[in-house]
Amino acid sequence: MAGEVSLYTPEDEAFRKEVRAFIAANIPQDVARRNQRGYHPTRDDVVLWTRALHARGWSAPNWPVEYGGPGWSIRQRHIFEEESFRMGAPEISPQGHTLVGPVIYAFASQAMKDRFLPKIRSGEHLWAQGFSEPNAGSDLASLRTRAVRDGDHYVVNGQKIWTSEAHSADWLFLLVRTNTEVKPQAGISFLLVDLKTPGITVRPILTIDEAHTLNEVFLEDVRVPAENLVGEENAGWTYAKHLLGAERSFSANVPRCKVGLERLRAIAGAARLRGRPLIEDPGFAARVAQLEIEFLAHETTVWRVLVEEESGMTSAVPTSSILKVRGGELLQQVEQLMVEALGDDAVPVYPEADYMGEMPNDAPGPDFAPGVVSEFMYRRAITIYGGSNEIQRNIIADMLLRA
Ligand SMILES: Cc1cc2nc3c(=O)[nH]c(=O)nc-3n(C[C@H](O)[C@H](O)[C@H](O)COP(=O)(O)OP(=O)(O)OC[C@H]3O[C@@H](n4cnc5c(N)ncnc54)[C@H](O)[C@@H]3O)c2cc1C
Repeated sequence: MAGEVSLYTPEDEAFRKEVRAFIAANIPQDVARRNQRGYHPTRDDVVLWTRALHARGWSAPNWPVEYGGPGWSIRQRHIFEEESFRMGAPEISPQGHTLVGPVIYAFASQAMKDRFLPKIRSGEHLWAQGFSEPNAGSDLASLRTRAVRDGDHYVVNGQKIWTSEAHSADWLFLLVRTNTEVKPQAGISFLLVDLKTPGITVRPILTIDEAHTLNEVFLEDVRVPAENLVGEENAGWTYAKHLLGAERSFSANVPRCKVGLERLRAIAGAARLRGRPLIEDPGFAARVAQLEIEFLAHETTVWRVLVEEESGMTSAVPTSSILKVRGGELLQQVEQLMVEALGDDAVPVYPEADYMGEMPNDAPGPDFAPGVVSEFMYRRAITIYGGSNEIQRNIIADMLLRA
């Protein structure tokens, strides 16, 4: 953005160059183009990229050094994320790297850490998150999938829903009920399940963008070795809360918003209104500028929170919920404005099944149109997944207004 004051030092900028050079040398062009347009990365893309990062020692940016993290500062992590996103690198699997990995290194036995963490880092195992059920989403503690101990196994029966990437993952982390006699939160355990175990059926759910990322997962007499229990039996709710905090912070969506704003400016520079670039229309330019200002405020808040966390400050404020609500709303506004900027060119939808890196020959509309509407439609869900915005507002009100 013009006139922007840089938050970065010359060393940061040198690191940025190093990251850019690495990404440019390691990402196939068709993969980058597809990701830059907002399509979901395929399993092959994610594995290819995780392997490349692993070979460089960069595949677990947020993990402590003792578990294989690169030891980056917050600024370096931020730069890495931003450049990865801008240059179309596939997102490293959040289910493995952001969600279950940190639960394993914080709460699991040494044997489990040794067994699972290296394979998350290397991309050998991709993971899916089996928390939500048909009648347990916002009210997650009411989940009913049952695990009953039988010798050295748990026998699991039940159903999960909205399980992102279960069809392409290798492992599933599950919340299961192991005690029905106590209050709901006190009877939940956290199990790791190989998705190839007999008794698991994965059925697709297509989303409004015609993509397949979501699934239903049915579990029928699935025998899970007891050694796959994380931490203690019936303590799973504590681990789940830890994980959900990480999921919401990750949902601040700074790189996605920032690169989205850049793309919005590019589209509004190319699109025409009464023969002039749309971005020269004062009304439209003012709306873009307003979003950029709001984004800068959001980004600054995220920085502040990260720096406070790095310096070990604890907060009585539900920051992860606040950042999730704000980041999600901003992203939806940016993407809505992109669709408006496209005008009639937003009418044809280019689902990802039809768009694998090259424009189809007979595609109507300009080269910058594919992906915009699909991404806009998919991200309506951003205010639902990871805990809906209404629930986040309840958490914020509960912590701040009752204090
Ligand atoms: C794209 C996508 C990906 C997802 N991926 C995963 C995944 O990988 N793994 C997984 O386990 N889950 C996943 N989910 C599920 C997600 O976590 C749930 O959809 C979410 O927690 C909401 O639960 P629900 O769908 O059951 O809605 P409900 O809980 O039934 O809520 C319906 C509506 O009521 C509102 N509401 C409910 N309770 C309250 C209340 N107390 N106060 C105010 N309003 C309330 C909600 O905000 C919502 O608007 C995903 C969802 C989506 C859309």
